[in-house]
Amino acid sequence: MKAITTIAGFREARLAAGTVGFVPTMGYLHDGHLCLVRRARAENDLCAVSIFVNPTQFGPKEDFARYPRDPDRDLALLENEKTDLVLMPPVEEIYPPGAGTWVDVDGVTARLEGAARPGHFRGVATVVAKLFNIVAPTRAYFGQKDAQQVVVIQKMVRDLNMDLEVVVVPTLREPDGLAMSSRNVYLDPGERRAAVVLWKSLALARGLWEEGERDAGRIRREMTDLIQKEPLARLDYVSIADPATLEELSRIEGPALVSMAVYLGRTRLIDNTTLGGNEARPPAIDGAGPATAEGMEGSRHG
Ligand code: AMP
Repeated sequence: MKAITTIAGFREARLAAGTVGFVPTMGYLHDGHLCLVRRARAENDLCAVSIFVNPTQFGPKEDFARYPRDPDRDLALLENEKTDLVLMPPVEEIYPPGAGTWVDVDGVTARLEGAARPGHFRGVATVVAKLFNIVAPTRAYFGQKDAQQVVVIQKMVRDLNMDLEVVVVPTLREPDGLAMSSRNVYLDPGERRAAVVLWKSLALARGLWEEGERDAGRIRREMTDLIQKEPLARLDYVSIADPATLEELSRIEGPALVSMAVYLGRTRLIDNTTLGGNEARPPAIDGAGPATAEGMEGSRHG
């Protein structure tokens, strides 16, 4: 495995590779990230990962400065997964002085995370476009955990005629259902216990939908009530939207993306699940712990 800090160095190392699978990350890696890496490793000749905490996707009051970082540990984990190349550039390498070109994806960035975090997706799309230009991947791997990010990247790739395949990987969860996230480290023990309310509200939505409920407003209200009953949680939004356009639904006729953002103390967590469509059985995606029909049933009434 080679860890490389410069664009020129990366391009040279990548030269003449066959297919390249690429996983962009902000580091502080957990098993969710490693699922993406394993897919990239299995499906391509060369496996490349970037570790870059991208300043332009953080708002001025967000956690860029305190975002967790542990490059040595990350490198050890990636080495263990037989990663070939790790790009870990300093900020000036990606944004040299005077850099002023941005990728703005219309429409799907206006809602949900885009509405809650102005400028976030401009930063995401710009850095991902830059990383794609540097890495020249055959396939790029993204987590369903960041569902809107997937929609934005897919639209960017299509709109800008980028020659690569976007592969979406299911959300990996802790045994109690909490989606793995680098930001979970911010939670104190009480907040960590309370954070399961995100998964519980997704399970509640799924349970209602499985019983035949198609009124999106009713499901939103039930989810909101459940989250508001958790004293340590503060709801930012719950959404039931068309998975392609992200427009809010009033009735669920086809597949629906159920998503939310919730604060536990200062920590903002997001999670989602898709109803309908051909997803396996979320939130039971990875079959671990209580993420079973029984677990979801229990959490609805518990
Ligand atoms: P991040 O380092 O948070 O920017 O995440 C890098 C990539 O890992 C993104 O495509 C995320 O969607 C993905 N990811 C983060 N958490 C998970 C998870 N729990 N399961 C699957 N993918 C994840």
